[in-house]
Amino acid sequence: MSTQVEVQGAQEILREAESFVDREIRPFLHDFKQRESIPRETIRAMAERGYLAASWPSEYGGLELNPVDYGRFTELFGKASPAVRSLITVHTSLVGETLLRFGTDKQKADWLPKLSSGEWLSAFGLSEPEIGSDAKNIRTNWREEADAYVLNGSKKWITFGAIADVFVIVAENNGRSTAFWVERDFGGVETRRIEGLMAARETELAEIELTEVRVPKDHVIGRLNDGFEYVVTSALDHGRYSIAWAGLAIAQEALEAMVAYSRKRVQFGQRLNQFQLIRGMIGDATTKIHAARALCLRAGELRANRSPEAVIETTIAKYFASKVAVEVANDALQVHGANGFTDRYPVERLYREAKVLEIIEGSSQMQQEMIAHYGLKKYHKRGGKA
Ligand SMILES: Cc1cc2nc3c(=O)[nH]c(=O)nc-3n(C[C@H](O)[C@H](O)[C@H](O)COP(=O)(O)OP(=O)(O)OC[C@H]3O[C@@H](n4cnc5c(N)ncnc54)[C@H](O)[C@@H]3O)c2cc1C
Repeated sequence: MSTQVEVQGAQEILREAESFVDREIRPFLHDFKQRESIPRETIRAMAERGYLAASWPSEYGGLELNPVDYGRFTELFGKASPAVRSLITVHTSLVGETLLRFGTDKQKADWLPKLSSGEWLSAFGLSEPEIGSDAKNIRTNWREEADAYVLNGSKKWITFGAIADVFVIVAENNGRSTAFWVERDFGGVETRRIEGLMAARETELAEIELTEVRVPKDHVIGRLNDGFEYVVTSALDHGRYSIAWAGLAIAQEALEAMVAYSRKRVQFGQRLNQFQLIRGMIGDATTKIHAARALCLRAGELRANRSPEAVIETTIAKYFASKVAVEVANDALQVHGANGFTDRYPVERLYREAKVLEIIEGSSQMQQEMIAHYGLKKYHKRGGKA
């Protein structure tokens, strides 16, 4: 399959992506839910249009969207299907953009076209059964042999881990982490799907067992022992940017559902949208979404300008937008009353899907820590009175 996609203008790409979402994703959400997976045909159709590589250079099959347009692109998919948006978050942002930044020319030339064409699906393996937020202390380990690095350990909660062909696996040696490119068929890689999730059931979450996995020496991403400081930090920053827009997407979709329902449903002889308490929820949701959108756009512009402030502004956008998603989805469900409590309306799904955004790519508490660290320095007035 050719990986070269004819690059169009960003506005045209976004228009086409929106119509793709309306045509190929929204009508099939029930089917995705029943089968608890995204059909391969959908992923193939996305790959053919360059949607698995929207932010990458065209030489690797990408659409060259700048960070702001890539954010808008993420929002379009995230409004319709958080699962498909997760594929974009992991495959395009976490894995692809990290490889673009840290991969050697040969790694990029060999691997990115396979990712953009959908020949390979990818996953990012950092979390473990016993280690989540404290990611510097992972236990999956590596040792060096003459012709390979040998990996042993377990990963957990890995999005698309059950079906991925390749994994970025972060492993430690003497307390220093390294990121490895691990192909499923290296031998010693076993994945087990995680059942019973509150949401994200189409995202093929898996536990991964790595037993004496022999990784060729040219499959290290970035430098040996610099995995956490460079590769993981950068990957999570890309992931956070995507999740910020994912939060905005869920909140926007929930607001639209809340508005539509409140204009139709009649109680006490009036439409719900006439009641002050309902209008209060709609007013608050609109305000929060405008604020979240402003933060997402600002983060995108700073990223486009390669500003040193981009990382912290991305963290702030992710923290705020994921909180807004949870709050607005909650209010949207409230406005729907008992109908909102059923799967005949979209708000119960949005309510469940929103919650995970406060846990992944660094929990809200970890974001608050980072933001507080920044705020304590930035807003400390030297010599000021206590
Ligand atoms: C749907 C889903 C998809 C995921 N996909 C991936 C993936 O693709 N790849 C991957 O590597 N991981 C993935 N994860 C894992 C995710 O990154 C972790 O769940 C997350 O980092 C939090 O870790 P934890 O769940 O172990 O919680 P813990 O770290 O055990 O934390 C539990 C609670 O304590 C709080 N807490 C922890 N430490 C502190 C502290 N110092 N101060 C204050 N509060 C603290 C946390 O905020 C949280 O509320 C996924 C998880 C989910 C649910």
